[in-house]
Amino acid sequence: MSVESGDTRAAVLRRETAPREYEMTSIFEFADHLGPAKVVHVWEPSIELRGVLVVDNVAAGPAIGGLRMAPDVSLVECARLARAMTLKNAAAGLPHGGAKSVLYGDPKMPREQKERLIRGLACALRDVREYVFGPDMGTDEACMAWVKDEIGRAIGLPREVGGIPLDELGATGWGLSHAVEAALPYCTFGLAGARMVVQGFGAVGSHAARFLAAKGATLVAASDSQGTVYDPLGLDVEGLRALKAQGKSVVDWPAGEKLDRDAVIDLACEIWIPAARPDVIDERTAPRLRTRLVAQGANLPCTPEAEQYLHEHGVLCLPDFIANAGGVICGAMEYRGGGETAAFDMIREKIRHNIEQVLTEAIRDGVPPRAAAMRLTTERVQRAMSYRRWRLF
Ligand code: NAD
Repeated sequence: MSVESGDTRAAVLRRETAPREYEMTSIFEFADHLGPAKVVHVWEPSIELRGVLVVDNVAAGPAIGGLRMAPDVSLVECARLARAMTLKNAAAGLPHGGAKSVLYGDPKMPREQKERLIRGLACALRDVREYVFGPDMGTDEACMAWVKDEIGRAIGLPREVGGIPLDELGATGWGLSHAVEAALPYCTFGLAGARMVVQGFGAVGSHAARFLAAKGATLVAASDSQGTVYDPLGLDVEGLRALKAQGKSVVDWPAGEKLDRDAVIDLACEIWIPAARPDVIDERTAPRLRTRLVAQGANLPCTPEAEQYLHEHGVLCLPDFIANAGGVICGAMEYRGGGETAAFDMIREKIRHNIEQVLTEAIRDGVPPRAAAMRLTTERVQRAMSYRRWRLF
C-alpha cells in the first residue's frame, strides 16, 4: 500500500490532530479474505489531482475495473465497487481480477482540465501493472484513449484505437436479454407477448428492450430521470431510442400515458428491468412491484432486504453481477484484440451458462439466486487463489 501526499497547512493540521489509528481503520475495516490486495492514494498538488485505486483481487489475472469521476467519490465506495468487479469478473469466468479507481472532480469540467487530471492519474499508476483502466460514470472512450496513450493499457477505447463501442452496440443489454431467456424455463410465462417495463431507458435499458422486443416481448413502459411513459398496448422501442438519441426524454413521446418517474415501479408486467440507479427497490418499494422476473441491469438496484422479500413472494431476481456482465465481457475481449462478433458470442454463451447454473443451484438448495451466485463466484476466486504463493498479491 502506498500513500503519496503533498503538504498543505490544512493537511498537516488534519494529520497532526487525527487519531493515531485513523489510517488503519479507514483502509482495513473492509478488508477480508478476498481483498483488497492494494490501495493507492494519488495526490498531485500542481494540478489538484486526488485519486484512489483499490485493487481488490488479482488471483484470476490482471484486474479490470472502471475509473469513476465525481466530486463525491470516496475510498469506501471505491473499495465496494472493486469487490463488485472481483465478483463480476469471476462470475463471468474471465481471467481477470477486480479493481476500481476514482478521481475526485466534476466530470463536466473543461475538457483540457479533465484530460490533465486523467493523464496525471494514469501516469501515477503506470507501474501498477495488475490494473487495467476501463470507463465508468464520468469517464468515456476519449478518457480511456488518453490513459492508453500514457501507459498503454485501458479498455473501452474508441474504435479507431482498437475499441469495441459497447454502449453503442448494447453489449450489456444483449447479455441481459440472454439472461432473461435463460431464466424462462424457471418462469411460468414465455417471451412472446410478455410485458416488460424498463426503469432507466439509457444504454443498458434501451438495448435490453430492443433485443427482447425482437424476440416477441412487448415494452409497455419506460422511464428516465424525467418521468415514465406507459402504454399497455405496447410502445415503439426504436422510436423511443431515436427520441433519446436526440437528447429528449421518454415523456416527450407523443403516444401513451405520462406518469411520474417512480410510477414505473407499480406497473404490471412479466419482466421488470431496473437499469438506472442503485437501491431503487428497497423494503418500502419491493411490495409495490407487480412482476414475475426482475432482470438487474443496474448495479445493486435492490437492497438485500428487498431481494429477500421478492424471493419469498415468488419473484425471480437475476443478480446484477451475473446478468449485467455483458459490458465487462466485451471489454475483456477487446483487451485480447477480439472483435465485436466474437465478443457478442462470448457474452451470450457465458451469461446463459451462468444463469442456468445459478438458478439450478438456487432451486436445488432452496436459496435466493444471489446466494447461489455468491457461493459460485466466491468459490471460483478462492480456487484461483489456491494456485498462488501469496493469497492476495
Ligand atoms: P445511461 O446514463 O446510459 O442511462 C441511464 C438512464 O437512467 C438515463 O436515461 C437516465 O435518465 C435514467 N435515470 C437516471 N435516474 C433515474 C431514475 N431515478 N429513475 C429512472 N430513470 C433514471 O447509463 P447506463 O450505461 O445505461 O447504465 C445504467 C445502469 O447500469 C447504471 O447503474 C450502470 O452502473 C449499470 N451498468 C452499466 C453497464 C454498461 O455497460 N453501460 C454495465 C453494467 C452495469
